[in-house]
Amino acid sequence: MSLSETDGSVAAFMRAQKVIPGGVNSPVRAFRSVGAGPLFIRQAAGAYITDVDGNTFLDFVGSWGPMLLGHARREVIEAVRQTALQGTSFGAPTVAETEMAELITAMMPSVEKVRMVNSGTEATMSAVRLARGFTARDMIIKFDGCYHGHADSFLIKAGSGAATLGIPDSRGVTKATARDTLVARYNDRQSVEALFDSYPSQIAALIVEPVAGNMGVILPDEGFLDFLRRITRANNALLIFDEVITGFRVATGGAQQRYGVIPDLTTLGKIIGGGLPVGAYGGRADIMNMLAPDGPVYQAGTLSGNPLAMAAGCATLRLLKQHPQIYSELEKKSALLEAGLRDNLRRAGQSGVINRCGSMLTMFFTGRDSVCNHADAMSCDTAKYADYFRRLLATRIYQAPSQFECMFVSDAHTESDIEQMIEKSYKSMTSLK
Ligand SMILES: *Cc1c(COP(=O)(O)O)cnc(C)c1O
Repeated sequence: MSLSETDGSVAAFMRAQKVIPGGVNSPVRAFRSVGAGPLFIRQAAGAYITDVDGNTFLDFVGSWGPMLLGHARREVIEAVRQTALQGTSFGAPTVAETEMAELITAMMPSVEKVRMVNSGTEATMSAVRLARGFTARDMIIKFDGCYHGHADSFLIKAGSGAATLGIPDSRGVTKATARDTLVARYNDRQSVEALFDSYPSQIAALIVEPVAGNMGVILPDEGFLDFLRRITRANNALLIFDEVITGFRVATGGAQQRYGVIPDLTTLGKIIGGGLPVGAYGGRADIMNMLAPDGPVYQAGTLSGNPLAMAAGCATLRLLKQHPQIYSELEKKSALLEAGLRDNLRRAGQSGVINRCGSMLTMFFTGRDSVCNHADAMSCDTAKYADYFRRLLATRIYQAPSQFECMFVSDAHTESDIEQMIEKSYKSMTSLK
């Protein structure tokens, strides 16, 4: 990497590796797939992030999705600060939890009741247990390349870091658990039909990222989500939308609003925590009422609904609710980015595909005409992406250190930030091998 000064990050990484496996608390942060070492971050503000050596980057990672409003957004930080002064955890109900639930249910009407947890992983894990409890069935269907957190049931053909590092099927997941997870191909109706035919009355739920974000951005084909709604209903299985990325990003009411398809259960995370550790799952009241203490499905959490997390989440959702124009502005800036990158590919003589839904976007380096499923995504030239990534980083642009992730545009990005990105991207593209 030709950044002038990264000694601080290099030293910090060496120190971390002695006491933290791989030196990181989440694998993709290690930058392995792009042949670089991680930058240790000191601070961030708006659309910019600064490492421990004082290098400042225009950021399109956005903490992998949560920072829709930009880093250190004043209203969010102020809410957290004020709340912290009153104590940080009580293990007893607070009114902020109800406010949070009221905001979520108002903005996403299919969610009639919602339970707060501490991460997206907890949300999907709990939603699946609930679906199994409700239907009295064991099996679930997921899609190749979709990522639903790191719970055992989902580490079967998983996307995100698991795909990047080539370990989509993790060691340590028992055969018994793996047997209950069936895998279909994204955008392939027949693959879903075949599973329902093979396992009649055994499938509790189908879980899907309504817009896939963990094998790079892949949009659902026209009618695909509708089809999933119909086939799950016909088989008395629940439809779970994992909107941990798309929730409050692709529309005020998430992908379900954007595509007009209503799931039985929805999982949320990332944006709803405003940068604090939060997840949530919710949906039909008759299903949610199966949860303890009202019902027989157990799920709990010492820090669930934590006051700081609720303060950050409520502040974020309130801003989004009060300023719906944020979404049209995101659309405009993201369309500008998409058009610029597409033009860059053409001018630089590089082949590639750009998929975008609202403010989530991936540019795939591939010779294919389209990228519609995991196999298509795997056709990408990851070495070229790594080269591109390193060149961009050297020009102070920070984007995901993997081909199979999203670029996220935030409310803090200005049109001139987007133009800066396009210009630097062009220069990086023309120098690629
Ligand atoms: C990030 C993500 C998760 C997991 O959330 P964590 O907070 O990382 O546990 C689950 N589903 C999707 C779609 C995600 O993008």
